[in-house]
Amino acid sequence: MTSHPQKFLNAPNDDVAIRVNGLSKIYKAQGLSNQKNALNDINLEIPAGCIFGLLGPNGAGKSTLINILAGTVMKSSGAVTVWGEDLDKNPRQCRANIGIVPQELNIDVFLTPYESLEFTAGMYNIPRHERKTKAILEMVGLTEQSHAYARTLSGGMRRRMLVAKAMVHSPPILILDEPTAGVDVALRQKLWENVRNLNDAGVTIVLTTHYLEEAEELCDHVAILNYGEVMISKTKSDLLKSAGRKDINVTIPQNQKRQPMPAAIKALNPILTTSGFIIRFNPEETSSGEILKTIGNAGFQIIDVSTYQPDLEDIFLDLTK
Ligand code: ADP
Ligand code: MG
Repeated sequence: MTSHPQKFLNAPNDDVAIRVNGLSKIYKAQGLSNQKNALNDINLEIPAGCIFGLLGPNGAGKSTLINILAGTVMKSSGAVTVWGEDLDKNPRQCRANIGIVPQELNIDVFLTPYESLEFTAGMYNIPRHERKTKAILEMVGLTEQSHAYARTLSGGMRRRMLVAKAMVHSPPILILDEPTAGVDVALRQKLWENVRNLNDAGVTIVLTTHYLEEAEELCDHVAILNYGEVMISKTKSDLLKSAGRKDINVTIPQNQKRQPMPAAIKALNPILTTSGFIIRFNPEETSSGEILKTIGNAGFQIIDVSTYQPDLEDIFLDLTK
């Protein structure tokens, strides 16, 4: 963020793109007793300039949060600020600061991408000379398809078409709800490239996903939502560091496997395997080197070692199981 200060000249003073305070959403069911707490008093800060991943299993409340930001769902309580504007006081300005790519692929199949963007620009009252239709189509890689009917576009192209539409009014924040659901692997890469290019151009990106791979690849900040609560919100590297767990897998000679386990190794709570054992430890408390030394001092010969550190998926499963 600090390495490209020129890109965020128009960022809010506190460098926070979206701030959510004590936000709750209760969907009132038709019956009297059946209420659904989709969001439960959540707090969240999305820094300007980042690619922010909002992760969570189905039903966690991701779309509810995004739809509140988009102004299509009414919050029950709490406060939301979008690019420095309060959602209650300035709903129109909040909406102008966000481009939303919805979860559903709803595009007008009778318009070409060019026509569709021009039409959207018209809806925003953007004067012709200020429109960036060609540049936006190029940015999402649809220049060749500019004048093709949308019904001839593949799923991935349609998704990019929605990204293009969301960017017509040049919002500083782009939000994508499950951007690659149902998009095949090659097209997913293409979409990720578009998202990265937009971020390089200074756009703050928020995306929801239940694909951990997507967050791992793209996001520099990650929040995990579960049952309407924020379980954790951190930079991706802090999140990976804070997992507080590392495995060291030690292979020992077969004859030593049959010997009784020395007390010093037993104290490390080894998990036995066919080739030796695994020691699970907290890297903030000890190191692989220390553990190997303990094993060596106990008289065990070490044939091979490998280490394993949990990835985003392990952390996600730990927090949401
Ligand atoms: P996610 O996008 O993370 O899958 P949602 O925000 O769509 O989660 O849903 C969160 C919870 O709110 C779910 O339990 C869902 O069933 C419920 N929910 C979502 N939309 C509505 C609605 N319009 N009316 C009632 N309940 C809803
Ligand atoms: Mg959803």
